[in-house]
Amino acid sequence: MTWLSSSFFSNFFRLLYPRACVVCGDVLVDGEPFLCSVCLSGLPLNDGIDEEADEVLANDLGIGHLYWLFRYDRASDFHKLVYAIKYRFNKELGVWAGKMLGERMKDISGIDCIIPVPLHPKREKERGFNQAFMIGTGIASVLSVRVASGVLKRVVNTPSQTGLERGQRADNVAEAFELGDTACVEDCHVLLVDDVVTSGATIRACMMELSKIKGIRVSVACLGKSGSI
Ligand SMILES: [Zn+2]
Repeated sequence: MTWLSSSFFSNFFRLLYPRACVVCGDVLVDGEPFLCSVCLSGLPLNDGIDEEADEVLANDLGIGHLYWLFRYDRASDFHKLVYAIKYRFNKELGVWAGKMLGERMKDISGIDCIIPVPLHPKREKERGFNQAFMIGTGIASVLSVRVASGVLKRVVNTPSQTGLERGQRADNVAEAFELGDTACVEDCHVLLVDDVVTSGATIRACMMELSKIKGIRVSVACLGKSGSI
C-alpha cells in the first residue's frame, strides 16, 4: 500500500477541510498562503504617503520610526487578518505577516533586536502564545536579528483596549509594564513590536520603561495602524 503516502493523506485532508482565506473565507488554491490573491492585492498596504504623519506620531511617542504594514479599520474585512492571529490562534499567519513587514523595512531599519510587547503571563497562558512574539519572530527572521522577549514584562493584567476611549486607553496601560533583564539591549536600537497601534497608549507605556535603559534607541513596528491616531 505504498501509494498511501503522506502527500495522499494531506491532499485527502485538504479535500475534506480546504484552507480558507482569512479575510474573505474563499477556498485557497495551491500557492496562496493565508490570503487569496484578490485579498492580498487589495490589502491597504502602507505605501509611504503618510510619512509626515508617521514622523509626527513617532516624535510624540518618543521613538525613532514607526513601521506598519497595513491600514487597520475594524469596519473593513482586512481587520480579520489580525483577528485570525489573536483569536483563531493562527500563529503561522503571525510569522508570515511579520516576514511581509520585515521585507518592507530591511533596507532602512538598522535594527539590532526585537522586543515584542508582552502579554500578562495569565493572558499568554490562556491564549497559548503572544501574537506580538509571532509577528516579531517573522520580522527577526528577515532582518537576521534576535528576539529579546525578557526585557519588558507586563505586570498588570489589563482589560482589552478594544472599545475604550483615548484617555481610558492611556489609564488602562499606564502602570502595566516593568523592566526585566535589560543588559542584552544596552546601547542597542530595538524594535518594539505590537499587532495594532491605535492611540499609541501601549507604546507610550512601554517607552516609559524602555527609556530607562542605558543607550537604548527604540523604533516601533506593527501590522495594523488604525486611522484614528
Ligand atoms: Zn480573500
